[in-house]
Amino acid sequence: MSEDLLALFKQRGALLEGHFRLSSGLHSPRYLQCALVLADPELATRLGGRLADALRPLLGDTRPGAVVAPAIGGILVAHEVARALGCRAIFSEREDGRMTLRRGFSVARGEGVVVVEDVVTTGGSTREVIDAMRAGGARVLAAGSLVDRSGGVADLGVPSRSLLALDVPSYGADRCPLCAQGSKPEKPGSRR
Ligand SMILES: [Zn+2]
Repeated sequence: MSEDLLALFKQRGALLEGHFRLSSGLHSPRYLQCALVLADPELATRLGGRLADALRPLLGDTRPGAVVAPAIGGILVAHEVARALGCRAIFSEREDGRMTLRRGFSVARGEGVVVVEDVVTTGGSTREVIDAMRAGGARVLAAGSLVDRSGGVADLGVPSRSLLALDVPSYGADRCPLCAQGSKPEKPGSRR
């Protein structure tokens, strides 16, 4: 599964090489622009279905009420996984630095939810969504991502699955070899 997904990312020009500052703050020579893959609606639906298939065994007998993702990268993933699981798709946003549900979105006390992202690097955003869901009284059943580039070390505290595990180096800004060579990192979303 991983092999063909990596080939797909390359084919769609979604595996970028250079010097990037990730949303986690870490620097990396590679970046996965999932938006370029999700831009194909049929493909997005297929990948969401595959991630739902991978997550289903983690859910036991519980039918989730919602799939939740951090905006913006996770929104389409949540939508497509929710389509496959037959529940609603919602997303969280940062407000004054805190991950929160806006736009009238809510979770019911005791409701089972699944948290998804496009790419997990440190797991920070996913953990923030998990915390926000729990603060709202929901039960987080599982977490998923299209790509796990943490090298498998991101501990989300709930059972998790990804479609593609990639071991891509990332560095703190103070120890980035690319910065040491004098190059400046770019924010991948800003590439045109
Ligand atoms: Zn750097």
